[in-house]
Amino acid sequence: MSEGSLLDHALVRLDEAAKHLTVDADVIEKLKFARETTKARLMIRMDDGSRKSFLAWRCRYDDTRGPTKGGIRFHPESTADEVEMLAFWMTFKCAVMNLPYGGGKGAVQVDPRKLSKAELERLSRAYIQAFASIIGPDRDIPAPDVYTNSMIMGWMADEYSQIVGQASPAVITGKPLALGGSLGRGDATARGGFYLVRHLADELGLKGNLRVAIQGFGNAGQHIARLLASDGHTIVAVSDSEGAVQSAKGLDLGRLLAAKDSGRSVTSTAGEGGHELLDGNALVGVECDILVPSALENMIRIDNAHSVKARIVLELANGPVTSEADEVLEKKGIVVLPDILANAGGVTVSYFEWVQNRQGYYWPIEEIHERLRIIMEREGRAIWDVAKAKDVSVRTAAYVHALARLAEAIEAHGTQNYFAS
Ligand code: NAD
Repeated sequence: MSEGSLLDHALVRLDEAAKHLTVDADVIEKLKFARETTKARLMIRMDDGSRKSFLAWRCRYDDTRGPTKGGIRFHPESTADEVEMLAFWMTFKCAVMNLPYGGGKGAVQVDPRKLSKAELERLSRAYIQAFASIIGPDRDIPAPDVYTNSMIMGWMADEYSQIVGQASPAVITGKPLALGGSLGRGDATARGGFYLVRHLADELGLKGNLRVAIQGFGNAGQHIARLLASDGHTIVAVSDSEGAVQSAKGLDLGRLLAAKDSGRSVTSTAGEGGHELLDGNALVGVECDILVPSALENMIRIDNAHSVKARIVLELANGPVTSEADEVLEKKGIVVLPDILANAGGVTVSYFEWVQNRQGYYWPIEEIHERLRIIMEREGRAIWDVAKAKDVSVRTAAYVHALARLAEAIEAHGTQNYFAS
């Protein structure tokens, strides 16, 4: 990737979207910078009695449309720059879905695999002690992200509730069901992507039995495999961090899920049920109709974008396609359903969790699915129409769609024209 911060790279999308709309200069000035990024050093007692400190951040990128919302990542390579880029993406993702939120994100620079369970709990609680005055159900609402999970969210909600002296489940989403979590959160990201593809199938030229390749077989990857397979499609290849397996006739999903459940890689199924071993890097070039990146950022780059044979790329991961690779895919006529739309089912059901916590009334699963489907289809359709009307990629259309909403909110406070006249 060329010079510049991660946020600078992300901001290219804002400039691109702004070319297709008439927005006041105030809007761009406001969205070019994070509103506040707070840094803290978390000190915890380790199991051996020593004290150790970890760098941590919370960014509230923009809160014009509501309290900021975004996950907390525990990762050894997290930086303030990365947190701001992720918070910028969240600002646009929440606007894409018309959720009453701005965008935020947080991180701790730590390798959680090197901590004991008790150390992980102390670190999670220390994060909330450091940022309790910044977060809150009406201010900034965290959620899980890379290497954080529902148990960590439960500890964090508990710590916050103790600090403010009252039960406050709505401060954090992605909690365990028993602690105020929502039904349907587990597969929400994949389900949102699934509803989107199903709704736009005709426009995308997708008919009958489709061949699907999935990169990354964690939460998002496993659920999209299950949903697409139960809709009659064929999973021809999947990968995880250790490699990939393929089968032109279709992989046996039960075998793959059993391997992951027992802590093994998908590659351990090679040789069984027609599964053949495949180099993990070759997965993006597998013959298929839909390629689903559901692993990490920057997985489809200038060096492998040419090999992509899929007709559609469904970005369940955040930022899996670099901007250079995006151009290559577009020239090849491959339609990319972009992350800020395709994986927004996750934050949408997080929003449902927050609403249910505030109401103290919990919805049945059918209601969660139906509400999610309606929002995915409504926003997916609107973005598709923008893409056609302006003759731009679906990604640019998603940014245009979100920017129009953000601009309307920012301009409602008055613009230069208003104040100068
Ligand atoms: P996860 O940790 O459950 O799964 C990640 C998977 O990627 C694992 O199977 C891992 O082995 C695999 N992986 C790692 N490196 C790989 C590599 N080099 N090649 C192939 N696979 C590799 O994470 P998740 O929750 O499924 O999230 C995946 C992506 O989706 C992330 O980008 C995340 O930000 C995004 N996302 C997730 C959610 C959600 O609700 N889970 C919501 C929005 C976005």
